[in-house]
Amino acid sequence: MKVDCLIVGSGLAGLCFAETLVQSGRSFAVISDDSQSASEVAGGLYNPLILKRFTLAFQAAVQLDYAMPFYEKVEQRLRRQFDYKQEVVRILHEPAEQNRWFEARDRKGYDRFMDEVLLENNTPQIKAPHKLARVLETGRLDTAAFRSAYREWLEAQGLLIQERFTYDRLEITPDVLRYGTIEASHIVFAEGFGLKQNPFFNHLPLQGSKGELLTIHAPELKEERVVKSSVFIIPLGNQHFRVGATYDNYNLNQETTDKAKDYLLSQLDKFLDTPYTVVDHVAGVRPSVSDRRPLVGQHQQHRNLWVLNGFGSRGVMIAPYASMALCQAIFEDKALPEELDIRRFALREQRRQGRK
Ligand SMILES: Cc1cc2nc3c(=O)[nH]c(=O)nc-3n(C[C@H](O)[C@H](O)[C@H](O)COP(=O)(O)OP(=O)(O)OC[C@H]3O[C@@H](n4cnc5c(N)ncnc54)[C@H](O)[C@@H]3O)c2cc1C
Repeated sequence: MKVDCLIVGSGLAGLCFAETLVQSGRSFAVISDDSQSASEVAGGLYNPLILKRFTLAFQAAVQLDYAMPFYEKVEQRLRRQFDYKQEVVRILHEPAEQNRWFEARDRKGYDRFMDEVLLENNTPQIKAPHKLARVLETGRLDTAAFRSAYREWLEAQGLLIQERFTYDRLEITPDVLRYGTIEASHIVFAEGFGLKQNPFFNHLPLQGSKGELLTIHAPELKEERVVKSSVFIIPLGNQHFRVGATYDNYNLNQETTDKAKDYLLSQLDKFLDTPYTVVDHVAGVRPSVSDRRPLVGQHQQHRNLWVLNGFGSRGVMIAPYASMALCQAIFEDKALPEELDIRRFALREQRRQGRK
């Protein structure tokens, strides 16, 4: 098989890149195992506002404007729904937070995403005496459904090879890459936290942050919005709600723990007053980076090796935009935005040295 690009990984990153190649008429194949689970377990929220500080996420407007029509196209092509427009409301904990909301909203570009009025709490099962603040243009991408539908489609086209990629089997020449029977002009590595095993890019500062989520069944809870206090509750339908998530930068494995479960339930009980049962508990490692920016770019020596990673906790919003930037870098020789480009670390170091 001869392709323009071989993609390693079928999480959100690898699949958004595959879709970008579909939309730009390039040939490709995807090799992936199931060793990483971030896209399988993710809450899938897209929300332009960082709810702790009331600041906008990195390039929120640009990313959202790109991501929404992108997912819509996939939905139309695969005839499946993954994108659910859901309101996100943040419980305000004291009157001072109400003031902070309006102060933040006065900043340039913020009124697009922050509601101009605060909402009274009308959900009896939720404790929110100081009102709720609504973020605009939010929703949830069902990442597990997206992944399974997309992989099904790839399989039907004969473009998905379900196996582990073994790095030392890759034959590299400047013009062509060979992996088994595949010949590719380029390879894009999108292994999530699995990048740690990749000898070509494991020097990059991928930190990782383990996250755990619960699913609860709360038969009396009447709430269709995503509610955020110290943890989120995300309505899934049929009185099921996802609760999460935890952040653990040390135990970077995919095992669920009682400690995380106890923590999530203790936080939930602070604002939820209704009977529920826990019906599921999952864990995954977010591919997070110290400067909270993606890792996109080209290998320094082998110019046909590329990386697409570092989506941390905001993969849904940023993966389509970063995929487009990478596709243009590979096939149109267009420079990557510096904030995404893996060369930023060397550039920063040079600037630091220059200042000495
Ligand atoms: C608990 C939790 C909650 C989250 N909530 C949200 C949220 O609400 N909103 C949001 O936007 N993001 C959220 N995220 C983050 C989001 O999941 C990630 O940003 C995104 O899924 C990362 O996608 P990825 O493709 O880079 O990595 P992954 O999803 O980890 O995919 C990597 C793929 O590569 C494969 N792979 C790895 N190594 C190899 C190899 N050697 N050979 C073959 N295949 C390989 C893996 O098996 C996997 O299929 C959450 C993450 C977690 C863990």
